[in-house]
Amino acid sequence: MTETIRDYASIINGADVTAHEWIEVLNPASAIPFARVPAAGADHIDAAVKAARAAAPDWAATPPAVRGRLLREMARLILERREELAIMESTDTGKPLRQARADVDVTARYFEFYAAAGETLFGDTMSINPDHFAYTIRQPFGVAGHIVPWNYPLQISARTVAPALAAGNTSVLKPAEEAPMGAIMLAQIARDAGVPAGVFNVVTGYGHEAGAALSAHPGISHLSFTGSNEVGELVAIAAAHNHVPVVMELGGKSPNIVFEDADLDAAIPMIVNAIVQNAGQTCSAGSRLLVQQSIHADVIARLTTAFTNIRVGVGLDDPELGPLISAKQRDRVLSLIAGVVADNQGTVRTGGSVPPHLAEQGYFVEPTLIDDVDPTAQIAQVEVFGPVLVVTSFADEGEALKLANSTDYGLIAGVWTRDIGRAHRMARGIEAGQVFVNTYGAGGGVELPFGGVKKSGHGREKGVEAIIGYTQVKSVVVRI
Ligand code: NAD
Repeated sequence: MTETIRDYASIINGADVTAHEWIEVLNPASAIPFARVPAAGADHIDAAVKAARAAAPDWAATPPAVRGRLLREMARLILERREELAIMESTDTGKPLRQARADVDVTARYFEFYAAAGETLFGDTMSINPDHFAYTIRQPFGVAGHIVPWNYPLQISARTVAPALAAGNTSVLKPAEEAPMGAIMLAQIARDAGVPAGVFNVVTGYGHEAGAALSAHPGISHLSFTGSNEVGELVAIAAAHNHVPVVMELGGKSPNIVFEDADLDAAIPMIVNAIVQNAGQTCSAGSRLLVQQSIHADVIARLTTAFTNIRVGVGLDDPELGPLISAKQRDRVLSLIAGVVADNQGTVRTGGSVPPHLAEQGYFVEPTLIDDVDPTAQIAQVEVFGPVLVVTSFADEGEALKLANSTDYGLIAGVWTRDIGRAHRMARGIEAGQVFVNTYGAGGGVELPFGGVKKSGHGREKGVEAIIGYTQVKSVVVRI
């Protein structure tokens, strides 16, 4: 099988820019390249930052209503090109088409939401004493740098770029080398929408070259990073050298906590989706299941049936579970599962089998349920980033809370109970940026502040918090 390989360019100062070196972009279901993007180096990052700096004063001075109109036009074009974008995103990442379509819808929502939020970003007035009038104004930082991963290229690019632009910053975005297409298409759409040249630049390249050059560039005034903890540390150190603020969206090991009074008919499908969605390659995946002992057997029986019925296939055929992003990611997940068997860390049950012809050519992993896991075991502590759900049981609410907080991470959590008091106690006690009660994830949740505690990161994206984070507040005092 062959696919036509198309060349794509970085977009710097509104122009297509290619490089001497290329990165081949593979379809994870076939391991066959379908596109090439430039392997840009520090020179292209420098050109993009300079273009963004040159565009920054005019963009900051553009009335918020005008900026909002341009961002809304981007949202309109995204929805107009919904199917094309979804097919590209599915081909690029391997995710099932329906998930890619949902990602496109959420991407459009980010531009709509922040278009409105940017128009209502007001300052305050303060009474100090009768002789003075004091007020605050919110001003953009200047050039925002964004480094994003491969798991939700469109959504995460929009999540970080839309609030930055709406607040009057200009942007330079470096997508992941594994899945750069969504970012390129967003920059093309910005150009088509009439966003001025230099306001939104996308430079493709390897992390250790283009990513490192972006995070260390002295012309950057704000950095946002979504990805692994290891690379996050490097980016934070680079940001510290230039004394610029940094938002870190890192990993997770998020629990679904199921009490014996839970509505299991509602809980089970959402627990399955929380780990199967995007093949478990979601920072907020529900990768741990904490279940009360009295219902453990019932929950395992229901989950086993659900896992067995999961349809595995090529993303464009719209299965429930597609391939992982790369051979490296598949091998890492398989070796973690092999470690569970070798070290007797739990009982492994696999479901939804991979059709043999796909297993040979793509990066597929079967949905995997690991029961009776000691909460201190490696598989219960590390982020697997695959369709692997680890199950531990608990006796009572106190133990449930202790287990929920027993990893280094703290991104999101789901609590399943009919006891309203217990729901609120758990929500208060869980160390995480988001807690869901009798649901999980809320379909993108553009309006909800999102981010981690502990090693899941710091700073917040989404919601009004994110756009506030892209501004610096200035106090002005006038003697009257
Ligand atoms: P990664 O950290 O390897 O890569 C993320 C980005 O950083 C990519 O664009 C990459 O090119 C770039 N990069 C790599 N080396 C760099 C360097 N030295 N300097 C600057 N940039 C560099 O992560 P990944 O493998 O792409 O993604 C998986 C990880 O990301 C998981 O741990 C996952 O939990 C996390 N993640 C978190 C969120 C969140 O919102 N919290 C979302 C998605 C993924």
